[in-house]
Amino acid sequence: MIERGRFFVPGPTEVRPELLAAMCRPLIFHRGAGMQALMERVTTRLSVIFGTRRPVHVITGSGTAAMDLAARSGTILRVLSVVHGDFGERFARICEACGRSVTRLAAEPGETVPLDRIRAALAAGNYDAVTATHSETATGTLADIAGIGAVVREFSSCVFLVDAVSSAGATPIHMDAWGADAVVSASQKAMALPPGLAFAAVSEKLVERARGMLDRGTYLDVLRYEEFTSKRESPTTPAVSLLYALDQQLSDIEAEGLDARHARHLAMQRACVEWIDRAGPELHGGLEIVAREGARSPSVICLRTGKAPRVLARMRERGFDLGGGQGALAGKSFRIGHMGDHTVAGIEAMLGVLESVLQSG
Ligand SMILES: *Cc1c(COP(=O)(O)O)cnc(C)c1O
Repeated sequence: MIERGRFFVPGPTEVRPELLAAMCRPLIFHRGAGMQALMERVTTRLSVIFGTRRPVHVITGSGTAAMDLAARSGTILRVLSVVHGDFGERFARICEACGRSVTRLAAEPGETVPLDRIRAALAAGNYDAVTATHSETATGTLADIAGIGAVVREFSSCVFLVDAVSSAGATPIHMDAWGADAVVSASQKAMALPPGLAFAAVSEKLVERARGMLDRGTYLDVLRYEEFTSKRESPTTPAVSLLYALDQQLSDIEAEGLDARHARHLAMQRACVEWIDRAGPELHGGLEIVAREGARSPSVICLRTGKAPRVLARMRERGFDLGGGQGALAGKSFRIGHMGDHTVAGIEAMLGVLESVLQSG
């Protein structure tokens, strides 16, 4: 039995026993009244988290499935991808796999692409879509999605696709106010559920565009989701047990209060940053936050140190799981997922152990 308060991987995240227990309920038929009531509760409350009047579709699959849905039905020929790390790069590759021509605007790890660069690229390039990652889990960078959305809106032929996989449930999402045409997320990050569910909300503009697309596929056809979600159903057999856990978690999020949940994430981030500011430079080998100040994710922090592989191994010996570095930062950094249902006290207890591991060299 793994103790609670020790699993700080930035996805999947720790899941409370109450949510695991919710999955043990007997199954119900997915075309009956019980499931329709559950779907009603789930999709309307997800819309609040996404900041949209549009329904949020629940897909059986990981977050990448929802990215695939958005790319396949939402892009036509030319895509501009804002890349702040591995997951931004993943969105670009998904669009390429759909046969689109993709131009990347990339930033150094921890930096963000300036809005002027995005505007200039759009003015020069005749793009029909822009992709961006809200919380870049690979580097711990938070993008200015409101700012990017405002720039994209200057180009009426463009849709704006946003990966909010590690931000939904941790920080406010304002899909409608941002002018985003797709916001996608997943169950196993800040929503603190087991992996297996992906979420996608799309604008009417994207739905209109999808109607003209002939290769939307079947499983991830956004028009089928539009049709079935409006009937409070799912196009194919949903992961009923995971929906039980989601239903329970959405009630628990309501009980905590969404604003309180977001504030708790900022407090967990602050606990990490303050610890590094205090202890980081003194520690053997030093520790540096990859994301620049002002662009830090409230759900994950990436720390640069040459000793990352050893730190991860030593923490595992003490019973704590942290995340490794990704992409260009592999082997040179480690990551702490401070998201989901973790607490400031739990983060501080883990940082105490991390400090002793770092001090012992
Ligand atoms: C985890 C994650 C994904 C999706 O990964 P899956 O393994 O497909 O769920 C996408 N984008 C970001 C930013 C993520 O953190």
